[in-house]
Amino acid sequence: AKHNGRDDVIIFNDELCRVIEEKLQIERLLHFAIEKNEIFLQYQPQTTCKNKIIGCEVLARWKSAQLGMVSPEVFIAVAESTGYIIELGEYILEESIKTLQRWESMHMNLHQLSVNISMRQLLNKDFTITVKRLFEKYNVADFKTKLIFEITETSTSEDLKRLISIINELKKYNIQFSIDDFGTGYSSLSYIRDIPAYELKIDKSFIAELDDKRQASLVKSIIDISKNLNLRIVAEGVEAQEQKDFLANLECDLYQGYLFSKPLLKEDFEKLMQNN
Ligand code: C2E
Ligand code: CA
Ligand code: CA
Ligand code: CA
Repeated sequence: AKHNGRDDVIIFNDELCRVIEEKLQIERLLHFAIEKNEIFLQYQPQTTCKNKIIGCEVLARWKSAQLGMVSPEVFIAVAESTGYIIELGEYILEESIKTLQRWESMHMNLHQLSVNISMRQLLNKDFTITVKRLFEKYNVADFKTKLIFEITETSTSEDLKRLISIINELKKYNIQFSIDDFGTGYSSLSYIRDIPAYELKIDKSFIAELDDKRQASLVKSIIDISKNLNLRIVAEGVEAQEQKDFLANLECDLYQGYLFSKPLLKEDFEKLMQNN
């Protein structure tokens, strides 16, 4: 980068070209990722304060033959921008339901399984139809494990209305909603007031800074508000025992993070459940 004499920085044209080229390549390759079997899922345990696993979050992975492992932060964003997220999201949901069906048949004692749903996917006109079709195909209504959709915030009030009606429609099928990355957006408070959610996840950026007094009191307030609204609280990104102790004191409901376990392949998650 080079300064133009004022405060802004100009990026060299070839650098910009390289970034765009790279994004186009990711777009092109991602388009074949499902059919090439390059997308797989990992499962990260969610535990009580006594380390009993009661749920897990499904996290998508892409191992590209050409690019190697690509972070979901990257490929989910690309999929959202191209619209491929509709197909990808349906694939992830179906694979998650297949896993859940397998675990039901193994009588695994899991209370909830959470799947991330992009706003673009959720607001797509066919989303509820797709969900209902998958639910019938796999008899999800018979499952003991609750399915949870993790969603983030929307920007417009138009979307918010549609979102609420979609949530209410899907709640008839016993799906619950979790507000993900809570605290990172702007409309957070009104959002938890308006959305008929079941659970709220405190973003890991707050958990990482619990030794800061102001961050800590913010987390305490979030937990207080959630309790008043009857929302269950999940803390994500719990890496240290001190973080967990602090959250346990505030009676946080569930803990997710490297302290207990990284996201695991299905088989490894199953092994962990044997001693649960
Ligand atoms: P997220 O939904 O907030 O997921 C939590 C992220 O925190 C995951 O990153 C997880 O691996 C990571 N994590 C878990 N424990 C710890 C910890 O103790 N410390 C730290 N530093 N990180 C921890 P991951 O798997 O890289 O996913 C990144 C994001 O990509 C997710 O953030 C989510 O927004 C998106 N994503 C992942 N899978 C899917 C998916 O299937 N569908 C959609 N729509 N988005 C997904
Ligand atoms: Ca999530
Ligand atoms: Ca999150
Ligand atoms: Ca996130």
